Amino acid sequence: MLPKATSNPSPDWPENGDSLDPRDWDAARETAHKLLDACLDHLQNIRDRPWRPFPSEARQATALQQVVPPVGLETVAEAMIHEVLPYGSGNTHPTFFGWVQGTGTVAGLLAEMVSATMNSNCGGRNHGAVYVEREVIAWCRERFGFPATTSGLLVTGTSQATLIGLAVARQRALGSRIRQTGIRDSPRLSCYAVQGVHQATIKAIELLGLGSDSLRLIPRSPETLGMCPETLRATMRRDRADGCLPFCVVGTSGSVETGGHDPLDKLADICAEQDAWLHVDGAFGAWLRIAAEPFRSLVRGIERADSLAFDFHKWMSVPYDCGVALVRDGELHRDTFSSLSPYLRPGQQGLGAGSPWYCDYGIDLSRGFRALKVWATLKAYGIEQLADVVTRNCQWAALMGERVERSEWLRLITPVVSNVCCFTASADRFSAQSVDQVNESIAVHFQMHGGPIVSLTRLDSRYVLRAAIVNHRTTRADVLAAADAIEAYCESLQRLPSAESGR
Ligand SMILES: *Cc1c(COP(=O)(O)O)cnc(C)c1O
Repeated sequence: MLPKATSNPSPDWPENGDSLDPRDWDAARETAHKLLDACLDHLQNIRDRPWRPFPSEARQATALQQVVPPVGLETVAEAMIHEVLPYGSGNTHPTFFGWVQGTGTVAGLLAEMVSATMNSNCGGRNHGAVYVEREVIAWCRERFGFPATTSGLLVTGTSQATLIGLAVARQRALGSRIRQTGIRDSPRLSCYAVQGVHQATIKAIELLGLGSDSLRLIPRSPETLGMCPETLRATMRRDRADGCLPFCVVGTSGSVETGGHDPLDKLADICAEQDAWLHVDGAFGAWLRIAAEPFRSLVRGIERADSLAFDFHKWMSVPYDCGVALVRDGELHRDTFSSLSPYLRPGQQGLGAGSPWYCDYGIDLSRGFRALKVWATLKAYGIEQLADVVTRNCQWAALMGERVERSEWLRLITPVVSNVCCFTASADRFSAQSVDQVNESIAVHFQMHGGPIVSLTRLDSRYVLRAAIVNHRTTRADVLAAADAIEAYCESLQRLPSAESGR
């Protein structure tokens, strides 16, 4: 027998219903204002706040013991200011080029404050936050040239948006019965993407039960750094002849490795001809759609995608986390994720109305109010300023490329086509064997001692340095200074007696 629930409150439960709200609102207000000032001070002085390792004192100070006596808001605020705020991941700094990571803005900070206050659950129902998200999705649909049938939602990021896009693609290929039967009796599906496709696509294919072996990697052209369409077509035909069902092509618009873009128009033609789904991973690169030429042309055809995944938290500087999944066939999208539970069925009126609900278009039921930080960003800065950031970042990458090409210490590895510059220490200056070490040492040196943050990546089996610029704070002077600093460091390495300096 189940124990009977009782309504008897514990005797020491205060009668006035003591909640988690402050008892002293004036004190809470003062704490909050102080904290907001600390946040704004941090952003105002961001040039002095590069990445720093999380020190052991801060680690100790942030440890949660098994039993924590409550310390109250003021102490928590102080701890956040001193033990947490200084130790970000560095991506807010103007000379952070290491990875494709957004920088954030004050508009985003303010919006986060409001959305935390509202604490809306955007899985569904009939309330303001949901309507703001609809505005954001409609804006995206128009901006990327998608028809009115297109559905979409804000998600954690392109990883989740890719999983959603590919799930809809799988359902189109195999029919809605797979929701009951799974894929065990299905034809062998095959999927296509450019060599160096982001891990997010591989993960989505794994999670969908297709197995990463079903992903065919198509080589990229060394000039455009995009997928070779002829090889794609030939591979799809061959797979079909071998009994596979080529169901989906993943176009990459903005490779994290090289900044390369697949020729989306050609991919869309091939998908139409092969009756395959075109999903585009445009995590950051999709935003070239709003950039000036020649960059904008790199995403020509993006409006022909069946599904498009991209992020607001990278190039649009919206605070983490926020990506978008757009699906051209909104009905199919809903059929893939819709729930049949009675407690999740929209009603006709009141708070339970507001159909369609976002929980019927994705993985999450409970969802935060991501739309507000996007809305605030678009409203506060306007599309032109955001577009200028994108264009300027591409120009900065080109500038860095030119600077590297002129350098006697460095060599460019791939052409700079958008916002990514891949380079290496020159093998003429360091012996070929030690170039890998020098590259690593450049990356780590500036991380540890301040200066331009570049990352180390593997490209065609070589370790190279990569600068990926999606940073509204970066100036031209930052880029030139970064190149100078890297050269000077190379020179200093060679002067060191212990350094590998064999010619
Ligand atoms: C960042 C990135 C992803 C993953 O997106 P998240 O927002 O981190 O989930 C996928 N593809 C590309 C090209 C990316 O740059």
